[in-house]
Amino acid sequence: MKFEYQNPTRLVFGAGSLNQLGEIAGELGKKALIVTGGGSVKKNGTFDKAVSSLKAAGVAMAECSGVEPNPRIATVRRGAEIARKEGCDIIIALGGGSAMDASKVMAAAVYYDGDPWDMIFHGQPDPYFPTKALPIITVPTLAATGSEMNCGAVITNEESSEKSFVQAPCLFPSVAIVDPELTVSVPKDQTAYGVCDIITHITEGYFNSADNAPVQDRFAEGAILTAMECGQKAIADGTDLDARTHVQYASIVALNGWIQSGISAGFPVHMIEHTVSAFHDVTHAAGLAVINPAWMRFAAKSNTAKFVQFGERIFGVKAKGADDLDAAMEGIDRFEEFLKSIGCPTRFSELGIDEKLIEKYAQETLRIIYDEDGNLPGLPPMSEADIIGVLRAAL
Ligand code: NAP
Ligand code: FE
Repeated sequence: MKFEYQNPTRLVFGAGSLNQLGEIAGELGKKALIVTGGGSVKKNGTFDKAVSSLKAAGVAMAECSGVEPNPRIATVRRGAEIARKEGCDIIIALGGGSAMDASKVMAAAVYYDGDPWDMIFHGQPDPYFPTKALPIITVPTLAATGSEMNCGAVITNEESSEKSFVQAPCLFPSVAIVDPELTVSVPKDQTAYGVCDIITHITEGYFNSADNAPVQDRFAEGAILTAMECGQKAIADGTDLDARTHVQYASIVALNGWIQSGISAGFPVHMIEHTVSAFHDVTHAAGLAVINPAWMRFAAKSNTAKFVQFGERIFGVKAKGADDLDAAMEGIDRFEEFLKSIGCPTRFSELGIDEKLIEKYAQETLRIIYDEDGNLPGLPPMSEADIIGVLRAAL
């Protein structure tokens, strides 16, 4: 095992930490662009609290509201324009992964004269790699993406039906202010989707690496078990701040690079979901809940031992040995049952998606992400036929 790990984001974690926003923003800039989603932060008082904290610290503000779930490139262009016009020198994302991802690309777009869509890797021969961005403060209001402490962003181009990502060191937020109190208003369905996103971020590394990484395995299993246990509590009682706190901590460690250190993680389930989402605008983790179990059943045939370990350590499934495919499949069944039990869909039909465009999803996924043999990276790498098989199994 050999790796380097660096995550420059300062993490300020805990109930009530939103109160520190003004003071922290004041250390980074004089005028903030506050980026929000469709209005939840205004309804539940979070926006007003953020504004008072900024005012008390003498930080001026401009606003870009209305970032949609599966944020659009048009919204990124609009936000970058506001930031430029208003002379903002810092961006504050106050919302879910969508507001945070849009903010990151706005922050880099301020320094780029071309179209920000150039930064989103969508199969173009010469993507623009951002190297400079305004300082970003992330204030997540939903535990799911981990975007608050990573350097990735996922953006949709609705005109071309494409959804893809950018990853660049300049997009690491300067500070993540993670206040679990902000998540008590998240409805049951979004809480469940968040839990599914967290678990899927972890399983993408756990199952797609052939490296022997026992410490990472135990980190991954601990975070999955915590997300499941506390996720169920948070869904049963949204005001359970203790449960909300641990789900949110799990969401951060799931995708801040630590669990992935030293392993060659692929993200096939995410890559396939992005394509399906681009065509149907489905909620990110509702798509993952459908695709992940179907992908697992495909991957377990060649990577049986790892799925046996998953079944044993997460669900207590007894196996006859590391090659016990029945036990591996039982673990996957149990995982799918868990997703159902928290209210996630597990078939495309529940999302109103049929088989019409299945081949197109597979081709689009491979047009964007492929290895030297033209397959989707992962363990095992997936051909077009493999992707179609997984999608078909999820209908
Ligand atoms: P989201 O799209 O940001 O928000 C989903 C819904 O939850 C919105 O309707 C939002 O309402 C609502 N909401 C958020 N906070 C709330 C609160 N405190 N109370 C009540 N409602 C609240 O959801 P997300 O799952 O966090 O982000 C999904 C996006 O992130 C997708 O585009 C996905 O592809 C991307 N993603 C990024 C990464 C990454 O590492 N960068 C990883 C995985 C996924 P409002 O809009 O009204 O606020
Ligand atoms: Fe995700």
